[in-house]
Amino acid sequence: MTDSINQFAHYLQAMEIDVWILRQPVTCTLIDTPEIISTDSSVSVTTTTPDLASAITLSDSDVNRTDEWKTLQNQVIQCTACELHKTRTQTVFGVGNQQAHCLFVGEAPGADEDAQGEPFVGRAGKLLNAMLFAIQVPRESVYIANVLKCRPPDNRNPAQHEMVCCTPFLQQQIALIQPKLIVALGAIAAQYLLSTKTAIGNLRGKRFEYAGTGIPLIATYHPAYLLRSPLQKRKAWEDLQLIRKMMTE
Ligand code: SF4
Repeated sequence: MTDSINQFAHYLQAMEIDVWILRQPVTCTLIDTPEIISTDSSVSVTTTTPDLASAITLSDSDVNRTDEWKTLQNQVIQCTACELHKTRTQTVFGVGNQQAHCLFVGEAPGADEDAQGEPFVGRAGKLLNAMLFAIQVPRESVYIANVLKCRPPDNRNPAQHEMVCCTPFLQQQIALIQPKLIVALGAIAAQYLLSTKTAIGNLRGKRFEYAGTGIPLIATYHPAYLLRSPLQKRKAWEDLQLIRKMMTE
């Protein structure tokens, strides 16, 4: 145990983040969410993100999910629905456990992701891995995706119409995964998924529901932002503890 804690501490220190140590382990099994969603009165959130509730049908039927995943991934690979297809190196579909309890959603691929075809690689990805490691949740046990499947040129922010265009793919990923918890990483993903303009600082640390689906959603800072603003890492740690709590309650 001591060895693993030391390894854990060294790992986090290597990532130049504070050392966070849990008092007890956690597995990524989730909740039957009791009371979700209560939004702070200071936070304006609607659950009317474009057609999301109606588009997501969570079914327990015994379907061939492997084929559905392949079909969906091929649709993304071939997608030319917005102009981002012209500048991408490749699409960045998503990665992880297709039956994960926890789905992490960022905004869009960056340069590293565009080059490697996988979300959250590079420095931000390493920090996300360290954050997951800190709550003893292996990256492989969750699913990680972005709202956009193609990189906006020069890492500019996604345009609203691009996100609307690409959202059906994320919706289908959610329908296939049927996560028990969605974690929005960063302001853009959080504001889009919650259909709000409220600042991420006021969204984080609270429980929301994703678009009338009954799936709990919480928001936290994007790892890339934490690399630029290390003073916010303590708040991110609070968010991680909330994630962990929601996994175990
Ligand atoms: Fe298609 Fe989404 Fe890529 Fe636009 S960003 S081309 S909608 S996959």
